[in-house]
Amino acid sequence: MDESFNVKFWGVRGGYPMPGPSTNRVGGNTTCLEVRVGGHLIILDAGTGIIGLGREMVAQYRIDHVPIVTTILFTHTHHDHTQGFPFFGPAHLPDSTFYIFGPKMLHEDLEAALAKAMLPPTFPLDIEELASMRYVRNIREREMLALSHDWAEPRVFNAYRDKPELPAEAVKVRLMRSYAHPQGGAFLYRIEWRDKKLVFATDTEGYHGWDKRLSRFARGVDLLIHDAEYTEEEYLDPVSPRQGWGHSTWQMAVKMAKAAEVKQLALTHHHALHDDDFLEAVEKEAQAIFPSTVLARESLTIEL
Ligand SMILES: [Zn+2]
Ligand SMILES: [Zn+2]
Repeated sequence: MDESFNVKFWGVRGGYPMPGPSTNRVGGNTTCLEVRVGGHLIILDAGTGIIGLGREMVAQYRIDHVPIVTTILFTHTHHDHTQGFPFFGPAHLPDSTFYIFGPKMLHEDLEAALAKAMLPPTFPLDIEELASMRYVRNIREREMLALSHDWAEPRVFNAYRDKPELPAEAVKVRLMRSYAHPQGGAFLYRIEWRDKKLVFATDTEGYHGWDKRLSRFARGVDLLIHDAEYTEEEYLDPVSPRQGWGHSTWQMAVKMAKAAEVKQLALTHHHALHDDDFLEAVEKEAQAIFPSTVLARESLTIEL
């Protein structure tokens, strides 16, 4: 039994990838997180960060030939959260099985949205031609997922109606739909195992005061990973204000961390044009207000 619960950042950018010397320390890939929890692997989003994770997984497969079984959770289907999937090495191995969950956006099934991201003539391969097995399912806010080594695959429950008897070691995943992101919102996920919890809240914009639903959803969690795309000056910029663009300022993330009394805050979904020096200055400013703040960087692993 694997006793660990940790999260590793593979992509921390919003919008589009930004490689180069000025982003070397923080990293230039778009959103992807690897969560190792109770012996399960859960991947959150498939921005370009998933390509590096996939390389590592294929290298391991070449050594041990253990079939790859992974749960992938999508917050939503914007490019910066899906564009790495066509280049995810394990997707091209016949020995891989993916259980993929995410929201239905604007009346489009998750599977159809993913298929659109890899469609000839703009991409050489149709999603149907991928060698791996994929089970793709839309989930709704009232549902929850559970993963257990007693079951062959993750199970979906109605979080309100069903009172499932879950194995003691089951990993639970709850979700909240944030409507503060165009168009159709984004899912925020809470992953729970034993007495530890993390919340992944990217692509959501803070409300006046703060988002009261989110502060309940994230109440007291060990780690809150929160959108921090802008500074307050950028958000309120008189020439090009970012209000309504569906992202938060780092100040909003800090306010949420305090309101929800979380134990640790990680700032993520960095603006593509914010370089290392800029982001490290933001980290210091945020730490002055909420000391348990860390800037999400590629390769950073947080142990819960
Ligand atoms: Zn995004
Ligand atoms: Zn988005």
